[in-house]
Amino acid sequence: MLLFFSPRFLDHLTPAGHPESPERADILRAAALRAATLGIDLREPGPVSDRDILGVHDAEYLAQLSATRGRAVALDADTFTSPDSFDVARLAAGAACDAARHAILHEAPALALVRPPGHHAERDRAMGFCLLSNVAIAAAAARAAGVARVAVLDIDVHHGNGTQWAFYGAPEVLVVNTHQFPFYPGTGAATETGHGAGEGFTLNVPLEAGASDADHAYVWNQVIDPALERFAPSLLLVSAGFDGHAADPLGAQRMSTDGYRAWLTAIRARAARSCRDRLAVVTEGGYDLQALRACLDATVDVLHGSAASDTTWRDASGDDRRGRTAAALLQDHPRLRRPQS
Ligand SMILES: [Zn+2]
Repeated sequence: MLLFFSPRFLDHLTPAGHPESPERADILRAAALRAATLGIDLREPGPVSDRDILGVHDAEYLAQLSATRGRAVALDADTFTSPDSFDVARLAAGAACDAARHAILHEAPALALVRPPGHHAERDRAMGFCLLSNVAIAAAAARAAGVARVAVLDIDVHHGNGTQWAFYGAPEVLVVNTHQFPFYPGTGAATETGHGAGEGFTLNVPLEAGASDADHAYVWNQVIDPALERFAPSLLLVSAGFDGHAADPLGAQRMSTDGYRAWLTAIRARAARSCRDRLAVVTEGGYDLQALRACLDATVDVLHGSAASDTTWRDASGDDRRGRTAAALLQDHPRLRRPQS
C-alpha cells in the first residue's frame, strides 16, 4: 500500500473550539509516522488540477474559493477558511486523486490522510467543514481517465450529500452511503436512489441513532456488500469518516474501534474480490482525537496486511439491537435489495 499525507494539512485553520481542528492533522501525521515505521511508503500529494476540480464543481465556485486565498472567510455557518485553506484543500483533493491513481495503476490499496474533509461540499458551495468534494473529484477524475465503473462507499456518520449529488444521474458511479438518520445534513433517506439513467445507482442505508457494530455489520452483509458485488466496480473509493465511533462528540452511533477494523477488513476483501485491490481510502470526519487515531491505525493495519478471503463482517459483540433498524429498513425499502434494477 501507499500512504498520502502532507504536513500542509496543519495549515487549514478553523476558529477556536471548532471540531474540525488543526489538531486533527497532528493525529493524521502521527498515524502516517507510525505507518512509516511499519515500512509503508509515504508520499506527499500534489495539488489537484483546476480541470479535475471542474469535473465536480462549477467555475464560479472555484473562482469564489480561489478568492479566499490569504483571507479568513466564513463560507457557511460552520465552514471557514484561513489564508492557506484553498491551497490546503487542493492538496486534500489531490491526495484523493493520487490515491485513486495509485490504486488503479498498481492494483494495490492506497490511503489518503487528509483534511479538510470533502463529502459535504456541493457543486456550487462549501458546506459542513468541506471546501472541495475530495472523493467525488477523485471518482470523476478516474472516470475521465477511462475507469469504467467506480463505486464510492461513504461510511462517515453524516450523509455524503456532495458526493451523492455529483453522481445522482450517473450509472457508472455507484454511491453507497450509510449514516445516522435523521441527522445533519438532512439528506440520505432510503428513498433517494438516483434519477434518470442513474436511478438505482445511489444507495442510502440510513440507521437510527445508537446503531452498534452489529447493526452496521448487518447492513453491510445484507445490503451494502451484495450491492457492491453486483455493481462489480473497477475501482472502490471509501469516504472514511470515523465519527460513528461511540466516543465521537458529534455523532450518536456506538461503533467501536474493533468494529471499524472489521468493517475495513470486509471492505478490503470486497475490493480484492471485485476489483483486484483497487481500493483508495480517503479520510472524512472523526472528531474524538483518540478514537480517530485508533481507527486510523486500524485502517493502516488492514490495508497493509493481506486481504481476507471472505467479505462477510462477522461481528462478535452479540449486541441486542442487532439488525433492528436494518430489518425494518429492508422491509420498507425492498428496492435496496436491487440497486441496479
Ligand atoms: Zn461526518
